[in-house]
Amino acid sequence: MAVCGATLAAARRGPARRTLWQIDPAACVQCGLCATSCVLPVSAVKCVHNFAMCGYCRLCFGYFEADAPALNAGAENQMCPTGAIQRRFVEDPYHEYTIREDLCIGCGRCVKGCTDFGNGSLYLQVRHDVCVHCEECAIATVCPTQAFRRVPADDPYLRKGAAGEGT
Ligand code: SF4
Ligand code: SF4
Ligand code: SF4
Repeated sequence: MAVCGATLAAARRGPARRTLWQIDPAACVQCGLCATSCVLPVSAVKCVHNFAMCGYCRLCFGYFEADAPALNAGAENQMCPTGAIQRRFVEDPYHEYTIREDLCIGCGRCVKGCTDFGNGSLYLQVRHDVCVHCEECAIATVCPTQAFRRVPADDPYLRKGAAGEGT
C-alpha cells in the first residue's frame, strides 16, 4: 500500500498536542476586558500571585486605593471591588496578600497597581478548572494586545518568575 509523504510526516510527528487558551502576563495591559468579555457569568480569568516576587509591602499598590484614607483593611481603602484580596500582618513592616479566587472577577485593577508601582507579583491567568475551553475565546477576540495564546494542555499556565511559582 502506498503511503503519501504528508501522512508519513504526520505519523512521525505523533498525535497533535491538545492546547488551551492562556494569558501571556508580559503582554497583558490590564485593560479590564477579561472581567466583562468571558462567556461565563463570572470570568474564568483570575488574579494569581507569585509570592517569590512580592515585597510583602505595608503599602501594597495592588491592595490599597491610591487615595486610601488609611492603611488598614477597611473596605473604603481597598482597590479590589469584591474584597478578594486578604491582607495578613507577618512582622513589621511586612504583610502577606492572598487572593480569594472564588471572589475574584478578573478585573485586573490590583494587577495594574502592582505592575505600575510595585514588584509586579500579581498577574492574570485563565483558570482551567473554571474555563469551559471555548474553541474561540471571547476575550481573545477583543484583547487589545493579543495577550491570549494557545498553550499545551499538559502545561497550561504562563507563570511569572521561576517555574512552579505563582499559581
Ligand atoms: S483583555 Fe488582554 S490586555 Fe485586557 S486584561 Fe485581558 S489579557 Fe489583559
Ligand atoms: S482587584 Fe480585580 S483582579 Fe484583583 S483580586 Fe480583585 S477582582 Fe481579582
Ligand atoms: S475560553 Fe471561554 S470560558 Fe475560557 S476564558 Fe475564554 S471566553 Fe472565558
